[in-house]
Amino acid sequence: MCKKTIYDPLFPLGIGTNRFPVSGACDYPAIEKAASMMVQALEAGASYVDVAPTYSKGTAAEVCRLAFQQTKAEKNVTVKSSYLSDTSSDDALRRVEQTFHDLGIDHASYFVCWNISSWEQFLAITRKGGLYDGAVQAKKQGLIDHVCFSTHAAPQEIMRMLKTGLFEGVTLSFSPLNSQIMAPVMDCAQAQNIGVVVMNPLGGGLIPQKEAYFSFLRHPGDHSTAEAALRFVYAHPAVKIVLSGMSSVEELRENLEAFRGENPEPDAERIKRVQAHFASINGFCTGCRYCDGCPQGINIFELMQAYNMRLFPNPSVVNGRTDPELIADIAVCSRLKNNFSFMPQTPQNPCVACGTCESRCTAHLPIINRIRSMYEMFQKRCFSEDGMLERLRELIGTSRRVAFYPGGGYTAYVLSLLRKAFPEEKFELFLFDSNPGIWGSAVAGIEVRNPAQLHDVQPDLVIVSNYNYSEEIFNQLKLLRDAGIQVEKLHKETDIPWVF
Ligand code: SF4
Ligand code: SF4
Repeated sequence: MCKKTIYDPLFPLGIGTNRFPVSGACDYPAIEKAASMMVQALEAGASYVDVAPTYSKGTAAEVCRLAFQQTKAEKNVTVKSSYLSDTSSDDALRRVEQTFHDLGIDHASYFVCWNISSWEQFLAITRKGGLYDGAVQAKKQGLIDHVCFSTHAAPQEIMRMLKTGLFEGVTLSFSPLNSQIMAPVMDCAQAQNIGVVVMNPLGGGLIPQKEAYFSFLRHPGDHSTAEAALRFVYAHPAVKIVLSGMSSVEELRENLEAFRGENPEPDAERIKRVQAHFASINGFCTGCRYCDGCPQGINIFELMQAYNMRLFPNPSVVNGRTDPELIADIAVCSRLKNNFSFMPQTPQNPCVACGTCESRCTAHLPIINRIRSMYEMFQKRCFSEDGMLERLRELIGTSRRVAFYPGGGYTAYVLSLLRKAFPEEKFELFLFDSNPGIWGSAVAGIEVRNPAQLHDVQPDLVIVSNYNYSEEIFNQLKLLRDAGIQVEKLHKETDIPWVF
């Protein structure tokens, strides 16, 4: 029998706020429409609100603020604080204050240490005077009720984090596509009595986009493949909340129906049926781990699990890109980084083709060839730490007054690489962002400024540190280029994103 977790009294559908159909901060009619959709969700009983300042092109907070003004329905709001921008307990308390201001609230249910990427970062967050301490202080002051975290770290590291007993809830990426990898993590959370909030239940949108392919997820009693996927995810007893974004009222209704309607298949049977289908896909790595113990220390299991993504169809547009080969490579690298915190140090293939793993592989997979093709892809896509550091060295050269645009979490990650690329150098760094909501706030200890100040600052170089809107931002900065300031895009067309 399952014990109660902090999420148990809540309706299982959580409100994701990252997919509102809003084009930007000036698109007020769309913001109002999204707020009205959110009111419908809240009044239907969905009360878990997953919000962050960058979501829905920086408009999610405003959508929430408007929605909260229009209904007295119960709401359980998250305050998210990322170690990339908030490092101390004071930063954590400032983040609570800022979120309350932006959302027009004076209390939140959950403080989420957002997107902990590794055990090393977990230790930094939970050190004395760090982010975690600030969250605990906020709880003592009655500003928040529970301290939680979200993570894309490797399964073994997540289990280590869960076992510390420091957190009451966790948000994890879990979908039919990674259910085999994540099963031990889910079991661990359940054993620790830590409630799980699931993000990306539809495999980053892949399942509804390739509905015909994934129709095997459906029981005849499910109304749609997406509904079947949501039910599959919720079938694990550790899962208490399933987050789903809302891009339309119809989608909201379908999502609500997955949890309100009669479940046509017992949970254990659903899990068994779906897992059996995955195992029957030709060339699929089942995750049995008989290949463990590579003499070169290669993460064969992780690489082959990521390679599984090449066996599935891909969406036609991902991160604003339409090249099918690039999209397929984004899927593989995203799986490696998000599910296993794996990124190679160098793009040189370490496999010596000894054949040990292939002789043990229960699925008789061509592991050596697969690993070779993956490392070739890592080289081409700049998916290695050395590749990224080299890119920064090439771009920055001798410039020392460097501006980055935009100034959010993506840039915070790039700045962490910059310090590694130039460990001895002193820089004067500036951050600019078009979102007025973050002007004056600090990201990685640097103030985010209004782009109107770019001319006054006169940096040696402006780096467009964004993937999805790289071209758009570069074009917006034409006047700056005309005025003689060097502007460079961080990414080449062949790159995968550096943050997924
Ligand atoms: S063939 Fe390559 S990956 Fe497999 S065990 Fe040998 S070195 Fe490791
Ligand atoms: S032995 Fe084969 S099927 Fe099993 S985890 Fe390794 S690569 Fe995958």
